[in-house]
Amino acid sequence: ATLLGIETSCDETAVAIVNNRQVLSSVVRSQIETHRHYGGVVPEVASRQHLEAVNPAITEALTQAQLSWADIDAIGATVAPGLVGALLVGLMAGKTLALVQNKAFLGVHHLEGHIYATYLDQPDLKPPFLCLLVSGGHTSLIHVKDCGVYGTVGQTRDDAAGEAFDKVARLLDLGYPGGPVIDRLAAQGNAKAFPLPEGRISLPGGGYHPYDSSFSGLKTAMLRLTQRLRTDLPAHVELPLADLAASFQATVAQSLTKRAIAAALDLGLGTIAVGGGVAANRGLRQTLTAAARDRGLQAVFPPLHLCTDNAAMIACAAADHFQRGHRSSLDLGVRSRLALEQVMELYTATLN
Ligand code: ATP
Ligand code: MG
Ligand code: FE
Repeated sequence: ATLLGIETSCDETAVAIVNNRQVLSSVVRSQIETHRHYGGVVPEVASRQHLEAVNPAITEALTQAQLSWADIDAIGATVAPGLVGALLVGLMAGKTLALVQNKAFLGVHHLEGHIYATYLDQPDLKPPFLCLLVSGGHTSLIHVKDCGVYGTVGQTRDDAAGEAFDKVARLLDLGYPGGPVIDRLAAQGNAKAFPLPEGRISLPGGGYHPYDSSFSGLKTAMLRLTQRLRTDLPAHVELPLADLAASFQATVAQSLTKRAIAAALDLGLGTIAVGGGVAANRGLRQTLTAAARDRGLQAVFPPLHLCTDNAAMIACAAADHFQRGHRSSLDLGVRSRLALEQVMELYTATLN
């Protein structure tokens, strides 16, 4: 089926057209330049920019794919989780077009979209598999059982992995968003320069939680370390940014890899698919790929440009649901939070 997807959950206005798992066009209008002035995403500003960008992006996606409305079978739009005002813009655009163009409409869960991004590079991948979802707002290990059927087996107890990258980058005055800058710097640094603590969650009966993670301790350790270096180093000596970035990135990659491998082995899943912005991280890609191979598992990733927010992954998830006959009501609303376990509510019940 040919689906047009709309994504406006955060700071990317994105529209894409896919034919099942093949991308026909993908338009991403990032608001990063605007939000950079504030050091993070400002919700009101995001909604306003989505409103200006969404219609031109829809036109551009159709033009790029050289398709007209007659070629589109259905429209999918992200409805949860995310910023309510931002989500509303995409939902309203999607529902209005569905009504006017007489197309089926499907609300899409943003995280299910991140899971589906891997299919765009691996069209033959089939559940069950484990998804390591590492984005700006989430860090979870998900047992992917079928389209719309998910079980969260582990998650972060505090900061998300992407959030940790962003906070540490701010600490080092590297700007926003932090992930890509740290990734670049780390490539030139020594990952063993500074030993850092991997956050662990203690269990009441002793030992540590095998799948849950924590990044706030690591963030604090980075703060103390840079404060100490700034005090100790002579004024004309700059912070060893590459070594700091490499040590931090290696610690995050190791922590995520350990938990993903443990969960895959325990659940008897042979494939680990990674999703979300941090899936673009070269340290994580290398560490996880090598560790998986050592254990007889396979690690798969989305194409680099489809790790962070885009609408191709949203359209891809919508296409799978559409093929199974799932449809959303035009009464569907948005939700700032919605567990992945509740995805099917988007197709059977009316939210709000
Ligand atoms: P969510 O999907 O949880 O709602 P989000 O949509 O804001 O959050 P994504 O777009 O999936 O998140 O990813 C953005 C995050 O990915 C940012 O925190 C960014 O720093 C991080 N990121 C992007 N590229 C890289 C990279 N190469 N290495 C590490 N982190 C990265
Ligand atoms: Mg974003
Ligand atoms: Fe996202």
